[in-house]
Amino acid sequence: MAYEAAFAEADPELYARSKAALAAVPGSLLTGIDGTIPVLDPATGEEIATIPNHTVETALEAVTLADAAGRAWAKTTPRKRSDVLHAVYAKLIENRDDLALIMSREMGKTITESYAEVQYAADYVRWYAEEALRAGGSYRESPQGGSTMVTTRGPVGLAVLITPWNFPMAMATRKIAPALAAGCGCVVKPATLTPLTTYLTVKLFEEAGVPAGLVQVITTNNASAFSEAVITDDRVRKVSFTGSTPVGSTLMRLAAKNIVKSSMELGGNAPLLVFDDADLDRAIEGAMLAKMRNGGQTCVSANRMFIQEGIADDFIAGFTEKMAGLVQGNPLNREVELGPVVDGRAVERLQHLVADATAKGADLRTGGTKLDRAGHFFEATVLDNVPVAADITTTEIFGPIASITRVKTQEEAIAKANDTCFGLAAFVFTENVDRAFNVAEALETGMVGINNGLLSNVAAPFGGVKQSGIGREGSSEGLEEYQEIRYFTMQRRETV
Ligand code: NAD
Repeated sequence: MAYEAAFAEADPELYARSKAALAAVPGSLLTGIDGTIPVLDPATGEEIATIPNHTVETALEAVTLADAAGRAWAKTTPRKRSDVLHAVYAKLIENRDDLALIMSREMGKTITESYAEVQYAADYVRWYAEEALRAGGSYRESPQGGSTMVTTRGPVGLAVLITPWNFPMAMATRKIAPALAAGCGCVVKPATLTPLTTYLTVKLFEEAGVPAGLVQVITTNNASAFSEAVITDDRVRKVSFTGSTPVGSTLMRLAAKNIVKSSMELGGNAPLLVFDDADLDRAIEGAMLAKMRNGGQTCVSANRMFIQEGIADDFIAGFTEKMAGLVQGNPLNREVELGPVVDGRAVERLQHLVADATAKGADLRTGGTKLDRAGHFFEATVLDNVPVAADITTTEIFGPIASITRVKTQEEAIAKANDTCFGLAAFVFTENVDRAFNVAEALETGMVGINNGLLSNVAAPFGGVKQSGIGREGSSEGLEEYQEIRYFTMQRRETV
């Protein structure tokens, strides 16, 4: 393997650590498989590991095991669940090097971003270790008197958790941690592009004290057969999905059979608005973060930038300079700021989006091509004057392309920003406080970053409106997704 040899020669110590980390990824304990699935390194296209291709029967066995373990776990005290999750947090941090290395190798994000994701993912575990003690409930008087009402929040039951490839650790812990905090067992199905991080994460959960069997991992290249069998199984009471809107819609139809509680974190088409009164440096810095985090492969990535005419030339010049200056290359190199995209299909999609936009009149300011080297590298790209008719305005870019449209007025910016069926995130740059709040209110999205290109935070309710989803993850709201409210009423005769 040419790349392996070159990597070993260039940085023998890191290479040895990366090999050791890969070797530490557990095989599944569930043996019913139909062959294996290769896991490829996007920086080279080469195979780095194989994972089991579990059969549907195995997935149902996982349901049986997690259901049994979950029933016992539901009876543990909040303090016990909290203590175990605190131990998991410590274990994840202790193993941050292995987790970060594996994540960069299977997903292609820069090692700096992988370390940041390990911390972010572990933070969800710590947050829900704390929230486990605050399960909620209430005590109320009936309005007409004569009875008392008590509400409880108990575990909803067995949860099926389906995660995407772009944040393989954080999307898993953002679901597993609240499920465990609430008292639920779970079956996790990571994306086949990036399963190794999830396997290792769950192994570390067990090493830290999570009972064996409580969190099951299933990997399969037949996701539809999996979801059709598992989500419609009578024992499953919850499905939480992060991924694209069409798949989310299919899963909601399956969940409808047994009226399974559903949380859907789906696709986005985030607008980023820069007004004439914005602070230029702050807007450029925020736009870089909103566009380029994870190489542009996030659901909240700024997909459409609407820049007001008075600031447009300066903003586009400064932003383009930053984009063109990004260091691209081997994601394991600490100096590198932009790695590969996840696979060859992503490169083809990006090539199409650039060709289509320029053919319809957009101006290419920088980038626009695939790098001439092994792996799936696409340049940081800026398209200016993008017309509404371009495919890029309605497609999730999921890569390092910025699509810019110039607008005259605030009203035009808001109307264009809202002209989409998605409603996950938006970004607004202005130094006018009134405008900041008025525009944030007018934007039809679940989240708005005001002079801030980074939305993700464990304490925030992450989620979308319109076709971007249902439910929230993170914060105290994220725990409620794994709980069911019950209410007891007691008639009360007056005795005093
Ligand atoms: P995807 O929908 O193709 O796949 C997501 C997961 O669903 C994978 O594990 C995949 O194997 C699985 N899957 C696919 N078809 C399935 C089926 N029929 N039944 C069961 N599982 C099935 O999405 P992706 O390409 O992995 O991820 C990118 C998408 O995820 C983007 O649309 C992005 O916006 C979205 N996303 C949303 C959020 C959020 O919080 N809203 C976060 C990250 C990513």
